[in-house]
Amino acid sequence: MINYTDRVTDLVRDIVARVPALADLNPDDLLVFARYGRSGAAGAYATCHCLTLPPTEPGYYYWCDRQSGRVTRRSPWFVTKSPKVFLHGRPIPYLISFVLPRFCDQTLDLSRKRRFYHGEPVWIAKLDTIVHELYHIDPARAGIRKIERQSGGQSAAAHGRCFFERVAGMVRQYLDSRPDPERYAFLRDGFAELGERYGSVAATTFRTFPSFPQRYIETLETQPPWAPAVSIQPIKQPHAPKVYTERDLETRVFLEPQPLHAQAATRCQAFSHAYRTLLVAQSRHGTAAAPAQWASQRTRES
Ligand SMILES: [Zn+2]
Repeated sequence: MINYTDRVTDLVRDIVARVPALADLNPDDLLVFARYGRSGAAGAYATCHCLTLPPTEPGYYYWCDRQSGRVTRRSPWFVTKSPKVFLHGRPIPYLISFVLPRFCDQTLDLSRKRRFYHGEPVWIAKLDTIVHELYHIDPARAGIRKIERQSGGQSAAAHGRCFFERVAGMVRQYLDSRPDPERYAFLRDGFAELGERYGSVAATTFRTFPSFPQRYIETLETQPPWAPAVSIQPIKQPHAPKVYTERDLETRVFLEPQPLHAQAATRCQAFSHAYRTLLVAQSRHGTAAAPAQWASQRTRES
């Protein structure tokens, strides 16, 4: 069995030690975990999740009458907050998730990064993605790194014009530093090859897999006054922990996606079956969920 997230974590330590532009990053401030995603399907390969942002300003949802424009319903006032993650008492400001098996089968074809890697082996796309996510981490821990505009200001977009080029430069810098090829050898294999070579592919996940720590809504204890004619609609959200520790981590084996005809036959089976994973160990190092709409504000995907 290969533990994929352990291998990525080990590689991250080596990259940070060898690439000066990432030298401010402390690998102990990071937790690498896995999510599930099919190879070949649309979606991210990896995502940088920031847990350092402060609560938002209070706000509320509201619904208006189409004709009159008058507010007819509203939610209670609320703020959104980041959950906290601690590993053995140490606060973890950033998480990086890798989507398996999709990440393992990433290639350069049709990708924006292809123009930087003419004639390079396809697995370099995975190394590029790892460096890309590391570069998203703001050295000041103030969220996702802001990219400066050529005019000198800061761009609202997380990927400024030069982002991909800088990442490719760091990938080259890392490889030119002559690291031990064993550190990144696992990137050469696709998901099926890893299974053949190691028997199975495991990774660290959160205990509430497929869920993981994300921004959550907290209703204000003291609600400002409001016109009594407007009804209050409670906010529905999944129950999610606000604090996670090493006891909320587990090791899970990721499996090849089933062929479509097999999916149809097993559609009624357990939820976790749809994700094609098996739990192999709880609390290896030692629970989770929230509305998806916040993810895009606080994370950067690749
Ligand atoms: Zn990105």
